[in-house]
Amino acid sequence: MDSSGYRSDGVGLAVAIVNAVYGAEADVDDGVLLEQTMQEYGVMSRALTGREKAGLRGWAGHLHNVFSADSADDAAHLLNQLLDVVVTHPYITDHDGKLHLHYAPAEADPLHRVQASTAMGLAIVLCDYGMARLGVCRATDCECVYVDVSRNAQRRFCSESCANRTNVAAFRARAKSTAAAGATS
Ligand SMILES: [Zn+2]
Repeated sequence: MDSSGYRSDGVGLAVAIVNAVYGAEADVDDGVLLEQTMQEYGVMSRALTGREKAGLRGWAGHLHNVFSADSADDAAHLLNQLLDVVVTHPYITDHDGKLHLHYAPAEADPLHRVQASTAMGLAIVLCDYGMARLGVCRATDCECVYVDVSRNAQRRFCSESCANRTNVAAFRARAKSTAAAGATS
């Protein structure tokens, strides 16, 4: 994995924003998770306004559609629509000690910066890897997304807890059907 897109904050931010809105702990009403995410990724440190929260939720919905696209062509089409409405202004910065790209001016409003960096980050991953690295968790009742950075691109779950929950359920289902088969034979 040596794509700059992979390590870019935009990709991690895209996953974090979507999961703040779609995750099991998503607080759709007060947006605390969204505020934490914005702080964690250094986008902003003040409280979000209602308009900003609504904007981020809407954007998270668009990003989720990219992660759940049926094909790379569909994802590309969706991302092109997003890139079409977001004005990007790429420049190189080393504010954290290492040269990297930002896609919107530092003085742009937070929503604009999130839109520019997440759309560009996902576009770069899509161009480099197709849909192989973008996914939606396969666990029942989980809508979280992930970017697969594993060596063999075999990831299927957003988290260890979803993987464990699914494995335990599958194990129980197998044990039950084995017991049922035993009872009838
Ligand atoms: Zn999950």
